[in-house]
Amino acid sequence: MGVKTIGIIGGGQLGLMIAEQAARLGARTISLDPAPDAPAFRVCDEHIVAAYDDAAALEELCRRSDVVTYEFENVPGEVIVPLMERYNIPQGYKPLFDSQDRVREKSNARDNGLQTPRFAEVIDRESLLRGLFEIGYPCVFKTRTLGYDGHGQVVLRRPEDIAKTEPYWGTPAILEEFVPFDYEASIVMVSDGERIVSFPIGQNIHREGILDLCLVPAPKMSDEVRGRLVRQSEAFMHRCGYKGILAIEYFIRGEEIYFNEMAPRPHNSGHYTIEGCTTNQFRELCRFLLGLPLEEPKLVAPTVMKNILGEDLEAAEAIAREIGHGTDSSQSRQEPGVYVHIYGKTVSKPKRKMGHITYVGMTPEQYDAEWRSRFVE
Ligand code: AMP
Repeated sequence: MGVKTIGIIGGGQLGLMIAEQAARLGARTISLDPAPDAPAFRVCDEHIVAAYDDAAALEELCRRSDVVTYEFENVPGEVIVPLMERYNIPQGYKPLFDSQDRVREKSNARDNGLQTPRFAEVIDRESLLRGLFEIGYPCVFKTRTLGYDGHGQVVLRRPEDIAKTEPYWGTPAILEEFVPFDYEASIVMVSDGERIVSFPIGQNIHREGILDLCLVPAPKMSDEVRGRLVRQSEAFMHRCGYKGILAIEYFIRGEEIYFNEMAPRPHNSGHYTIEGCTTNQFRELCRFLLGLPLEEPKLVAPTVMKNILGEDLEAAEAIAREIGHGTDSSQSRQEPGVYVHIYGKTVSKPKRKMGHITYVGMTPEQYDAEWRSRFVE
């Protein structure tokens, strides 16, 4: 069998890290992205600059690939579904369809055995007031589609807050019960259709709606909650018939586990697996795509992952210089402990994900004492 080519819809940092791991498995990659300077293009063997809804360009990607995956969940169904009949896109459309709309996503989670916050569909002022009556304050208003990292969200604590949702009236939205969670956690799983492998659960700390830190093992999670979360997540993936990769984000309150959202692609909270585990989320996705047997991931040591946003970039570059190696996303394990990944995006902006640093063999307490002050609070 010759060398296989993996096609990646999207050329952001997830595409970049998929391509790096594909290369280590001896596969070629081709990525499609509208930005001519997309990070993945530096690593992929070939690339296509085109919009995600450019049907001819996507067809070209499929034609030049043995197997195709996506690195984000908003690939339009009209474009990808016709291609699935003729090309090898083994994750299929269902996980995209189920995650592209927050109402559908939560209904699907609930119908397949997961507990969700109470929610109501909202489209205008009248349905918002009806939803508020059912759910009560405090609650969270979110647009149904294309939301990420807290965009298009309003927390409603009192009637005066209703006005803040006005710009979104006419846009399909969801109103959710506000969960006063103790912490957030996520799990990443890869399934070949029969077997599911799960990565160790991370506890996630957000800053202004964007992931800031991922702590593994999740310090606040009891063994009982951990076991139940893994079992219910794997059962959910199995029941839904999803293949490939799936990440689920949860809110944890006491012993209660609430589904928040899912993504059928590698997840930011799983970046720690590159050095923190014996195999990582990108590699296992590639192994699935290439038809290789999945490997069971094991945590190497307690790990902290720090996201590098635009405002943290200078500090991260200084750390990379100090620890004495480059800032490429694909370093070898020269320096046990600290791994700096800079994605090579040409424009740095506050709140834009520019890279991440993984600290292997580090507890949250050590991170707080030794590293926290290096970054913008
Ligand atoms: P999301 O885009 O849905 O993941 O929301 C972004 C962040 O807002 C989450 O990571 C939570 O920190 C917070 N959030 C979202 N929904 C809720 C909710 N129903 N209750 C409490 N906090 C929420």
